[in-house]
Amino acid sequence: MKAISQRFTRPIQISYTRNQSSIATAIPIDEHDPIWTHTETHSSYPTRLPNLHKTLQKCAKERLSMEGMACHSYIIQYRLWENTLTSNILINMYSKCGLLNYARKVFDEMPERSLVSWNTMIGSYTQNGNEKEALDLFVQMQRFGTEFSEFTVSGVLCACASEFKVFECRQLHAFALKASMLTNIFVGTALLDVYAKCDLLEDAIRVFEYMPERSAVTWSSMVAGYVKNELFEEALVMFRKVQVTGVEFNQFIISSVLAACAAIAAKIEGVQAHAVLFKTGFIVNFFVCSSLVDMYSKCGSINEAYSVFSHVDDRNVVLLNAMISGFSRHGRSMEAMILFEKMQQIGLQPNEVTYVSVLSACAHMGLVKEGKKYFDLMVKEHNLSPNVFHYSCMVDILGRTGLIEEAKTLIDQMPFEATASIWGSLLSSCRVYNNVELAEIAAKHLFEIEPDNAGNHVLLSNIYAANRQWDEVIQTRKLLKETEVKKERGKSWIEIKDKVHAFMVGERNHDRIGEIYEKLEGLIEEMRKFGYRCETQHDLHNVEDDKKEELLRHHSEKLAFVFGLMCLPCSAPIRIMKNLRICGDCHAFMKLASKITGREIVVRDTNRFHHFRDGLCSCGEFW
Ligand code: ZN
Ligand code: ZN
Repeated sequence: MKAISQRFTRPIQISYTRNQSSIATAIPIDEHDPIWTHTETHSSYPTRLPNLHKTLQKCAKERLSMEGMACHSYIIQYRLWENTLTSNILINMYSKCGLLNYARKVFDEMPERSLVSWNTMIGSYTQNGNEKEALDLFVQMQRFGTEFSEFTVSGVLCACASEFKVFECRQLHAFALKASMLTNIFVGTALLDVYAKCDLLEDAIRVFEYMPERSAVTWSSMVAGYVKNELFEEALVMFRKVQVTGVEFNQFIISSVLAACAAIAAKIEGVQAHAVLFKTGFIVNFFVCSSLVDMYSKCGSINEAYSVFSHVDDRNVVLLNAMISGFSRHGRSMEAMILFEKMQQIGLQPNEVTYVSVLSACAHMGLVKEGKKYFDLMVKEHNLSPNVFHYSCMVDILGRTGLIEEAKTLIDQMPFEATASIWGSLLSSCRVYNNVELAEIAAKHLFEIEPDNAGNHVLLSNIYAANRQWDEVIQTRKLLKETEVKKERGKSWIEIKDKVHAFMVGERNHDRIGEIYEKLEGLIEEMRKFGYRCETQHDLHNVEDDKKEELLRHHSEKLAFVFGLMCLPCSAPIRIMKNLRICGDCHAFMKLASKITGREIVVRDTNRFHHFRDGLCSCGEFW
């Protein structure tokens, strides 16, 4: 403060001696600045106060810290800081301009603080990300015995949310309860937001249900809470409730809903959210557009994703990343790479996320030369240091193209420990290229990192089986039983009208299961004429070949596909979601099925999308 007053003392004194000065001449700034042109010339200061306040508010709104400081020097000169309202406005101005130390100094030097001053200061800290200070000030406030309002409580709660302070949050909950503030919309919303962000969803729900009145922010906090806690179905149920209650939508709720739709590939709800966006006009916001592109691409509709993308004029990195990652996920590596080039042509710098997408595009298509080129470009051209995801993609690229030794060397050179997914990718490559030696090394690491994952035992056992090392096969299976790990059962989903149908491997419980099996048998008969044979090496069951075939035959995605054939109109693509990686036999099945039935089939497994059309798959056999 001293610095400011010294800095502006001289010009003010000059104007003071003129006696008939306006604020504009008293302060050394451009007199033609529009802020100052309305300030009137008066000799006594109290009549100027409203103008001064207006000016300060304008400075706060437009983040004009220099002009704000000039006002402050005037305030010091005329001892206007004794006026509580003036000081409050000054605190707000400094806080909006990000000058928190100045704001605090004004606050500390106030001769008298009202509740508003405390609230303003606490709010300033929270808005500027200084949550700890906000909490400390609240404690101090209680020590001074200053009463607090619902705004204080909601302000401090916002601080708790960013700091994940569960204990403080519970204390505030108790305070609010004692002070009968729980029914207040701001307090309730802030409280449920903290609980949701701290993963205490049940507490959040309790607060939500207790609230007599809810705003758009309340609903969007609740939906975001469900999404954060990965309860996507529940988030969508909430969304439906919002539609019924007629509360206005904000863009945050739509973004959360789109994230939920993307996560569970709920395209119908996604399209509804898109319609809401269209009606409300939020569609111009590129963050919302990015969520929309992401939703469509994760729901298997890459063309719709591109259509949304192509209608946005104002493109930024987030939006481009969403589109590149979409292309990559759908095996459209060429488009991903072209967009990557375009991105730089329009002057946008690719970031870490962009590189994960282009590298995984290369991995999906086994483009080893391009992959190496991007990896180099990332380090040399864009000065980014590759993180674990980039290394993971590189190991994948090398492994899938059979350069397993090189992949292993890269793992050894990594500046950090390899993750389970890196070893897992190496192990899968070893299976494809029958490299027992490296498979054993990869498996050893995997057993240590994730002892509960049965998939690793299964993979290793498959590798031994393919190499006819039966003793090792028996050993691995024993280990599998001993650790009592269970292989996750295959499960597939298909959305028909507005209902999701789930199928387990060898499903018995579906209403029309008899019909489904009958139709499946017919289809397989037909496919045999085209040379389809069950590829039995894809499944590990200690059974005879014909029994193996029966198990493979009833893999969940095949059942879901047949049900889709039965229910969906001829021209509609059949979209299936699967919880595990699609097996080689189902992959061959889907390719042929797309040819025989003339249907487009989209299978989303844990790794990526497969678009089957005319007997071919978009993944080009890499998955
Ligand atoms: Zn299968
Ligand atoms: Zn495929």
